[in-house]
Amino acid sequence: MKRGDFVWIERGEVKMRAMVTLASPNGNSLMVMFDGMFCGYVSMMPLLRSDGIYRDLIAGNPVSVKKIGDEGLPKTGDTKGGLLSVAHGVCPDCGSTEFEMRNYSEMWREGDIHCAQCGKFIRKFDAG
Ligand SMILES: [Zn+2]
Repeated sequence: MKRGDFVWIERGEVKMRAMVTLASPNGNSLMVMFDGMFCGYVSMMPLLRSDGIYRDLIAGNPVSVKKIGDEGLPKTGDTKGGLLSVAHGVCPDCGSTEFEMRNYSEMWREGDIHCAQCGKFIRKFDAG
């Protein structure tokens, strides 16, 4: 799992597409972004893996995370576009579609979204 991957996140009956916006080198710590709500999180959710199981950072509920292969992504249609719009389209400076979160605060659940290529500040992120 690495930054920019599209994944299924699943808990109980709820399953939706998400995009990995942050990943630690060992893959044990992830931040995923998605449209709408998932398990009480809005737009994004931090995940920690231990014993091979991802859990959300705050409640500690297990969440299944599976990478979506190319075949799982619509070639056209709105789902991938929706995910990309979550990550706010393309960088106006370099055209990159990869973004990363900086200065994320657990307490305030907000941070800054920067272009992963050139580092341009894109916008504030506020999950609260
Ligand atoms: Zn850029």
